[in-house]
Amino acid sequence: MVDEISSLLNPFKTKLQTLADQQLIRVLRAAETGTAPHQRVHSGQHQDPHTSQDLLMFCSNDYLGLAAHPDIAAALIEGVDLYGAGSGSSHLISGHSVAHQALEAALAAWVQPQIPQAQALYFCTGYMANLAVISALADEHTAIFSEALNHASLIDGIRLARAKGAQMHRYPHLDLATLAEQLAQSPAAVKLIVTDAVFSMDGELAPLADLLALAEQHQAWLVVDDAHGFGVLGPNGQGTLAHFGCRSQRLILVGTLGKAAGVAGAFVAAHPTLIQFLIQTARPYIFTTAAPPAVAHALLTSLALMQDERGQARREQLRRLQTQWQTGMRALLARRPDLGWTLIDSPTPIQPLVVGDNATALALAAGLEKRGIRVPAIRPPTVPAGTARLRVTLCGSHTEADVAQLLAALEAEANGQANSPT
Ligand SMILES: *Cc1c(COP(=O)(O)O)cnc(C)c1O
Repeated sequence: MVDEISSLLNPFKTKLQTLADQQLIRVLRAAETGTAPHQRVHSGQHQDPHTSQDLLMFCSNDYLGLAAHPDIAAALIEGVDLYGAGSGSSHLISGHSVAHQALEAALAAWVQPQIPQAQALYFCTGYMANLAVISALADEHTAIFSEALNHASLIDGIRLARAKGAQMHRYPHLDLATLAEQLAQSPAAVKLIVTDAVFSMDGELAPLADLLALAEQHQAWLVVDDAHGFGVLGPNGQGTLAHFGCRSQRLILVGTLGKAAGVAGAFVAAHPTLIQFLIQTARPYIFTTAAPPAVAHALLTSLALMQDERGQARREQLRRLQTQWQTGMRALLARRPDLGWTLIDSPTPIQPLVVGDNATALALAAGLEKRGIRVPAIRPPTVPAGTARLRVTLCGSHTEADVAQLLAALEAEANGQANSPT
């Protein structure tokens, strides 16, 4: 019955309408070409769906520009030739392959300097890796100490942990004094400090060395999600732990392989006992089909490339672009203090420009897009109210000309704002 279906749909329609009223409806846009600084993208759903546009993209997390790298694509094809398309089942049934095994060995070698004797476990996505680590390690004897700006996947892992009886203490962003107090007061047998290494909306770093010192002082584990630092920060792209010179067996590292590594998936690296514990008990590991072995095979090429001179060259290019962007933006902001924009001082490829209110951020993003440049406008609740921003992400595959084009477009938009009657 049509009427029955429409009454079933009503609660969802009402919630969608609320989102629409708050200007929070998000639009999916399909790209016709691979991930690259210049991409052909369909227009939004309110425009003609059949039109598409060539855009200069400053939004992907493909920080080293490896997602379209021919050697990695060739390795993926080779992996399909060797192993076929799918894994067929979960790791513990029959989905585990020598390609997964080789990848885990390479990742374990990668993290040895930071986590001596660590083993690594490959997951289909970073979201699942975070769900797995937190929900598996925690029970009613566990207290979790969670940084306020943690990624949604960590937060969801903590929700599962709380369903198992774990205690949760949220500490304010970067507030180690509060964290220390919470740790000191907790009687829990198992303590997990959980943090992003790079805060994804600011590009700021968590003070990992200080967090590790607190973990040592209070007999806690430190779980670090290095989604944005792996392959990018630290000597040779080792990651944010290496950037801070952290080294400890109490570290539990989650790294993702769909961002700088350019492919897909994630890993957890930790003491072999913890890895064994995850294999035996982590439901997001056990009850899901293993990623295609070909993907693991491609990642082996990706890891090699990230660590050799080609990865190094892309990291150096990234640093040059960061300097070019920051120098150019600071000059613009110095000429135009009336704009009230703030450039966050970020040491990562995430380079947000805070513009304040939602309407300004949306108008700027729309203005840039008319000029052929795509930068996402990030609004509350993703960021605190009044700090809406353009989240510029730079990639090692951008050129100096690309960044110059972005700076010129922002300057033109700024001049447009000065001239506008509102
Ligand atoms: C992207 C991201 C994840 C999730 O990783 P996926 O592999 O994309 O599922 C987890 N944590 C942080 C901080 C991220 O930015």
